[in-house]
Amino acid sequence: MCGKLYVVATPIGNLADFSYRAVETLKHVDLIAAEDTRHIKILLQHYAINNKLISIHQHNEEKVAPGLIDKLKKGMSIALVSDAGTPLISDPGMPLVKLAKQEGIDVSPIPGACALIAALSVSGLSVTKFSFEGFLPRTSSARKTFFMTKKNMSVTWVFYESSHRIVASLNDLAGVIPIDRKIVIARELTKIYETVVSDSLDRVVERVKQSANMQKGEFVVLVEGAVIEKKLEVVTDEQKRVLLVLLKECSIKTAVAMAVEITGARKKVLYQAALELKNKADE
Ligand code: SAM
Repeated sequence: MCGKLYVVATPIGNLADFSYRAVETLKHVDLIAAEDTRHIKILLQHYAINNKLISIHQHNEEKVAPGLIDKLKKGMSIALVSDAGTPLISDPGMPLVKLAKQEGIDVSPIPGACALIAALSVSGLSVTKFSFEGFLPRTSSARKTFFMTKKNMSVTWVFYESSHRIVASLNDLAGVIPIDRKIVIARELTKIYETVVSDSLDRVVERVKQSANMQKGEFVVLVEGAVIEKKLEVVTDEQKRVLLVLLKECSIKTAVAMAVEITGARKKVLYQAALELKNKADE
């Protein structure tokens, strides 16, 4: 009988953001697979969790995962945790989860904090649909190219950024996206210096540049989707003339149907124009 792999979310700053079920799981599994065993000890000590740890991070996970699968197959239960937030979300864990699924091992989430979701929930931007872009390319030119591909996207898009690159990334963004586009910066969420700034891109860039404090910590950046303006379809004078002639002889329905045939314009547009012409004629 196979054991179970638990994917356990940990706090993104505030240690109190850890669920009862997460604590119980970390206490009772046979092994905790952690991104950084020293880092996770702070959380484990806080909740008086004493359990065996093994290290699994981006540089060793391909190697370590098969060994953990063997343990799961022997019936052991394992909890996967990253340094902060939900594992696999811009964090290690994918090879282990993928392999476990391939081997038919039960994989169960213990949900909790995720910077992306926390930021979206307070952004005030539309979140019905959104696109998560993870971390951005490291070079300025690659970032600008990336921003070009996102410029006209109509849904809110979100990326993670570090203190080292926040100013450079915002500068690149302002070089590509209209500066009046609304953006939100969610910094140090759940921590003492939590700051959420929502404003036009140019004002947010200015604010971050002017304050050294605003450049410190961890960031989620959210960009409002582009408003795609629907082009108003204008009825030409010639189309109106055709409609007028037809309206003298037939019903609106027939006149519009014939005008569509003659002019090739859209039925909906001609129908609206026909109604207006008829109303004017009846006045
Ligand atoms: N797995 C994590 C999650 O569920 O959010 C994300 C891990 S990723 C390696 C770390 C990045 O997440 C940071 O560079 C930052 O962009 C974002 N992040 C993590 N904690 C944050 C916080 N408290 N406030 C704002 N952003 C945070």
